[in-house]
Amino acid sequence: TRGLVVSGLHKTYDNGVSALKGVELEVAPGLYGLLGPNGAGKSTLMRTLATLQRPDSGSIVFDGFDALSQPDKLRQCLGYLPQQIGSYPGVPAQSLLERFAWLKGRTDGNLRRREVAELLEKVNLSDVANRAVSEYSGGMLRRFGIALALIGQPKLVIVDEPTAGLDPSESNRFHRVLADIADDAVVLLSTHIIEDVENLCERLSILTSGRIVASGSPHALTSPL
Ligand code: ADP
Ligand code: ADP
Repeated sequence: TRGLVVSGLHKTYDNGVSALKGVELEVAPGLYGLLGPNGAGKSTLMRTLATLQRPDSGSIVFDGFDALSQPDKLRQCLGYLPQQIGSYPGVPAQSLLERFAWLKGRTDGNLRRREVAELLEKVNLSDVANRAVSEYSGGMLRRFGIALALIGQPKLVIVDEPTAGLDPSESNRFHRVLADIADDAVVLLSTHIIEDVENLCERLSILTSGRIVASGSPHALTSPL
């Protein structure tokens, strides 16, 4: 079966805070929203799904394999865009992307350059590909982050707080990029702003105090009873 199945995920930090209290989630390919207030456990869940931290218990199955016992296999098909994109040196976007593609095993120079050119096109940065990433605006940086996350054609794309710090036109453009890649990948977006996901995602789940309290279409979840 294709997609992501999370069950019984628990995580308590050393300070005693229980950030995940039995998270259950089933996500098919497409755009999926994870909505919850600050402190709900979204970042903990995203980092756990990205295998950057381990849960205390529970299971994560992606496209039929167990991601917790095979984290390397998951990383091979993963694109992760953290909330805070690191700062990059004064290097042109294109060469930075090519270096990452090389690190991801794209050793054939022609294939590598073609993949990077296609990604720059997809995120609408072709015109500024030779400009230093350190000079990018917030919106450009966000789109650059997506290009970076998409190197190697990931089947699972995890995006934490996608439009934090973007103006409306930048976030619209960002949303179109995400919708485009969701054609044949699981794309999971976390946010505390309902408008970020209600028109974008076919389905979403609401996370509160470490638990999924509701899942369904945005319309079903947000319309008054
Ligand atoms: P969200 O992303 O929804 O804001 P987080 O996953 O960041 O939620 O945090 C969930 C809870 O876990 C919060 O109470 C937060 O303070 C706590 N928390 C997050 N990371 C850590 C950590 N590294 N150590 C201790 N507590 C943490
Ligand atoms: P987010 O906005 O993504 O929820 P936060 O601002 O809550 O992130 O946390 C930023 C970083 O600090 C994260 O790496 C998180 O794990 C860590 N953190 C959050 N809350 C705590 C806490 N109570 N104790 C220790 N580390 C924390």
